[in-house]
Amino acid sequence: TRDSPGSDGDSVLVLSDVQKRYGTETAVSGVDLTVRDGELLTLLGPSGCGKTTTLRMIAGLTDPTAGTVTVAGDSVAGDGASVPPEKRDVGMVFQEFALFPHLTVAENVAFGLDDPDSEAAAARVAELLELVGLEAYGDRTPDDLSGGQRQRVALARSLAPEPDVLLLDEPFSNLDVRLRVKMREEVRRILKEAGVTAVSVTHDQEEALSISDRVAIMNDGQIEQIGRPGEVFEHPESRFVASFLGQAGFLPARIGESSVETPIGSYDRGLLKGVTEEYVGATVDVLVRPDDLRATPTAEANADGHVVRRQYTGPSFVYHVELSDGSVVRCLHNHAEDFEIGEPVAVALVADHTLAWYPSR
Ligand code: ATP
Repeated sequence: TRDSPGSDGDSVLVLSDVQKRYGTETAVSGVDLTVRDGELLTLLGPSGCGKTTTLRMIAGLTDPTAGTVTVAGDSVAGDGASVPPEKRDVGMVFQEFALFPHLTVAENVAFGLDDPDSEAAAARVAELLELVGLEAYGDRTPDDLSGGQRQRVALARSLAPEPDVLLLDEPFSNLDVRLRVKMREEVRRILKEAGVTAVSVTHDQEEALSISDRVAIMNDGQIEQIGRPGEVFEHPESRFVASFLGQAGFLPARIGESSVETPIGSYDRGLLKGVTEEYVGATVDVLVRPDDLRATPTAEANADGHVVRRQYTGPSFVYHVELSDGSVVRCLHNHAEDFEIGEPVAVALVADHTLAWYPSR
């Protein structure tokens, strides 16, 4: 049986100081990563941060310039090893699914099996089609399937040979928005049911946070932070991670003996996570997300700022308020307020948790 996500199961994939340089350009500058048995880990980061290059080095499609990759205890790259992709027990689901159009769904799924015409293969294909909910579609060709169904076939095909590690490169980018949200849940269910160890790559934070057991946030060829979705979202360790996740805003604050002074008033110093004596007198930037702040109408004389924009997001409303120091913060409201643009408002901190902060730039 597999370990539950987050537990200290055996590590199936280990990257040690993996680097990739192209001439003078560094794509990946030193990645250390351990993925546990049965875990779904997502590499998340902006375009060009090295996610795809990292995935390709695990797959064997790109050779690392330095460092080592170990899959299920076997050294596959670095330290003299250079195992080709087809000899690694690593499966890959590509963005465009890469199904064979002239083969049926069942034939596509059987493709990676040692003896695709055998009875054992037929049984395995049936098992996989059931897992992905396509029992009735085995005889169709990919052209006669929806986008979501094609993705399920791609997943079934890559799971069929029971890879030690499954890699997913931007797996939802070819699906429309609604289907994407539905397939996230479905792909997670399938991976968990298969018990496979998986690494996916995305630049979509919502996707990463919703499907993963752990998320590794990459920046500039390195992993900046790695942790459970709630951990990285609630406790971003760097300004980069904070800025990348959620609708982050930063409130300038001067740290006093027992209070912090901000453009929206004075608050207890205990509000700042882990702040110590040595920071007294310093100015820092406090991470505030829209749900940490609320605006109320007030007279000009008492205003913290002015409403500069209203954003309707469906279930909620976000009001952008420009503070006296020129910074703009966003306030999340569950109901429409009748704020006019330019209206003076008081902004209050309603966070029920300590706030992360970073040295001012
Ligand atoms: P995206 O989300 O846009 O796919 P990414 O995070 O996957 O981005 P990579 O594709 O890994 O980023 O690229 C990382 C860096 O390495 C980029 O600056 C890219 O230009 C560079 N790079 C990638 N492949 C090559 C190559 N074959 N030759 C030269 N430079 C490359």
